[in-house]
Amino acid sequence: MNDSWSREIWRLSAIICLGLIIGVIIDAIAWMLLIATVIYLFWHLRQLYRLDQWLQGKRSGIPENVEGAWADVYYNLYRLQQRNRRRKKRLATMVNRFRQSTNALPDAAVILDDKGNIENWNKTAASLLNLRKQDVHQPVTNLIRHPAFIEYFRRLDYSEPLRIISPIDAAVKLSMQIVPYGNNQHLLMARDITRIHKLEQMRTDFIANVSHELRTPLTVISGYLETLLEDDDDWTIQHDRVLSSMMQQTIRMQNIVTDLLLISRLETDESEHKRQQIDVPAQLRMIQSDAESLSMGRHTITIEADPNLWLMANHSEVISVFTNLIYNAVKYTQEGGQIIVRWYLNDQGACFEVEDNGPGIAQQHLPRLTERFYRVDVGRSRERGGTGLGLAIVKHVLNRHGSKLEISSELGKGSLFRCKFPHTLVIQKEVA
Ligand code: ADP
Repeated sequence: MNDSWSREIWRLSAIICLGLIIGVIIDAIAWMLLIATVIYLFWHLRQLYRLDQWLQGKRSGIPENVEGAWADVYYNLYRLQQRNRRRKKRLATMVNRFRQSTNALPDAAVILDDKGNIENWNKTAASLLNLRKQDVHQPVTNLIRHPAFIEYFRRLDYSEPLRIISPIDAAVKLSMQIVPYGNNQHLLMARDITRIHKLEQMRTDFIANVSHELRTPLTVISGYLETLLEDDDDWTIQHDRVLSSMMQQTIRMQNIVTDLLLISRLETDESEHKRQQIDVPAQLRMIQSDAESLSMGRHTITIEADPNLWLMANHSEVISVFTNLIYNAVKYTQEGGQIIVRWYLNDQGACFEVEDNGPGIAQQHLPRLTERFYRVDVGRSRERGGTGLGLAIVKHVLNRHGSKLEISSELGKGSLFRCKFPHTLVIQKEVA
């Protein structure tokens, strides 16, 4: 117990003793003890009142002539208050510094609460997204009404950024990404990518134009070669071989041009592409018969498809995904190989799988397989009429449908290509 508290006990004892002595002298002990206690109580009440006044006021310093244990109480409260003041100051400086640094960010940053309402933003966000004071607590989807953004926001998968046209200037392209943090809060980052987008556009236009320009001469060349090959009476075996090889290469070039044109169309056509109901099991049966002609009986191709599972997607694009993966399995699997195509529903959505027991692909190639012209074995791919663009097309189409490609493979054992379509694209038909 410290000094002031022992003094307080002494004070109480002294008052009671004084009351007792006077009580003994005047023969009214009980009355005098009561009066002593009431005086002591009043004194404390007065101190309590002063403390209350002090707490309500500015509390700039400890008031004068505070006595006994109350001095301790005042001192401790004052110290606590000083500590809080210092902490507040430190926090304010930190918040200020944080604000300055977020304001200096070249990217727009918007803090969203757990309901997706706007809480705060930096300077770039104010100019890039035209945010004003009255937008606080507004749902972000009220501010950015682009359907693709609303779908992105609701999908809850923010691993990839989204590109949209700026809600305030149609000439500006924005890349948006949502970063979840803390207790179901989100940070929306937006970046002006107009310049990068223009450069990409130029590159895609260039590829599309070159491919387009090459198409006509290639058609002419292949036409002449076909005619020449038809009149094979005039040719020696050697000429015939040369012409056949020329024809083969021309077809390869034509395939590359077709695939390049398809890729550039997939890249440039950002409009809401036409989606329709696709009877996947029926389409797979048709692709199976084409794949069997390509295989010429060298493989066993099995289809295990859920007959009631359909898909809402762009018909030609999705068919090109299925064909590319099935044809690849036929192209790269050795004679006598097994190819199993599966189409089923699980809790993540619809899955399209092509599994083969072909040569497999070494792990180091897997992350790069969907790059354009990336081939594990260039010679083998060319020999089988490959363009090196098939998987790039598959990835593009799946991206456009908010779907994913997974590849697993083991050398010498085979490969498994799996396309995962989200529930939003799934249609379940009633059993007839
Ligand atoms: P390509 O036109 O060369 O087939 P793709 O983009 O379709 O181009 O495929 C890229 C590469 O991936 C191929 O060159 C091949 O090496 C490899 N590949 C694709 N599918 C398979 C498969 N089922 N088995 C083994 N390798 C494969």
